[in-house]
Amino acid sequence: MPADTAHAVLDIDLAAVVANWRSLAARHPSGRVAGVIKADAYGLGARPVAAALYEAGCRHFFVAYLEEALEVRDLLPGAMIAVLNGPIPGTEATYVANDLTPVLCSLDDIDRWRRVAAERAPSPRHGRACPGHPRVNGGGRMAGTRPAMTRGRGPHPAILHVDTGMSRLGLDAEAMAALAADPGRLNGVAIRYVMSHLIASEVADDPLNQLQRRRLAEARAMLPPAPLSLANSSGIFLGSEFASDLARPGAALYGINPTPGWPNPMQSVVRLHVRVLAVRQVPAGATVGYNATWTAARPTRIATAALGYADGYHRSLSGRASACFDGTPVPLVGRISMDLTTFDVTDHPAVQPGCWLEVLGPHLSPDDVAAAAGTNGYEVLTSLGRRFQRVYRTA
Ligand SMILES: *Cc1c(COP(=O)(O)O)cnc(C)c1O
Repeated sequence: MPADTAHAVLDIDLAAVVANWRSLAARHPSGRVAGVIKADAYGLGARPVAAALYEAGCRHFFVAYLEEALEVRDLLPGAMIAVLNGPIPGTEATYVANDLTPVLCSLDDIDRWRRVAAERAPSPRHGRACPGHPRVNGGGRMAGTRPAMTRGRGPHPAILHVDTGMSRLGLDAEAMAALAADPGRLNGVAIRYVMSHLIASEVADDPLNQLQRRRLAEARAMLPPAPLSLANSSGIFLGSEFASDLARPGAALYGINPTPGWPNPMQSVVRLHVRVLAVRQVPAGATVGYNATWTAARPTRIATAALGYADGYHRSLSGRASACFDGTPVPLVGRISMDLTTFDVTDHPAVQPGCWLEVLGPHLSPDDVAAAAGTNGYEVLTSLGRRFQRVYRTA
């Protein structure tokens, strides 16, 4: 249990993350399964999560930004680390130097990446060509301090992102037509995967899923042959039609239910315990918290816990959530403040200062808390604050 002096303990079960990755891999037998570790692995810690997945055999990782890739590069020798949000102009050399794989999201991204490949092309005076796309860091060597352009020769791998309905990032129909009309535009770009992102995969019977699958197949036919990457967490559960060469789950690794409305097939990963700082008795008619939004209808015992919206405990949960003490729910009363939250423990005489209340765990899942807060489990996890004591369990 929690350390003696902590006010809140976030327990992250890395063994459960690995078990979740393995169970997703078992459901996606025809292709590989990556680990999406953007946003600090959905708030749980990119470095510990990446190391655990790598140890389990995961060799494909996705992050959103270049900085997030650099943060884990040294932990993942030889693994693909792809940056979803597209290379910002001027960062190309950093990608090459660190063997990072950009996800090219526009014609402009492609044109810039082609120029990187051209700069890297062997010149007559400097040695021979090295055909195929080189695993620049093959053999597990880390990207070091050598200048980018001396590292490897020829095309550097990239992923092409095709927009099949999100209208956010990725090559749209017009860009695809331009590419098909001018295939030379991809000269020197080694396409490692052609990817797209599903917009409604958690709704199994949404016709958008099939529409996107068809659009991706059409786009792929316009491009040089390349492996495909399609499913996110929920996409893996849409059946074999949605299998591809590389699935990209994030949420399900961290215990978020990829099949809303059905029992959660994933193991629970996070537990959050917060300390009771004070317990007081208030008379009927007393109000609790900012703006007196809650009034005691009876003599009430109020427990004040070390948790607030600054910790990612959404203020919109005020009056709508509960914690768990000894397996039974303890209702939240009044407004959540920045650093404190109040619970009605009248029916729980065992709750005393120094006790622990569970606010996230197997029976209070991120999805449950999200439902009460009017958001999704992704936002609950990525909001988790920085001032909890974190404990990583590996067994
Ligand atoms: C975040 C993200 C994923 C992972 O999605 P989950 O629903 O968390 O599994 C996959 N692909 C792309 C492009 C993403 O942005």
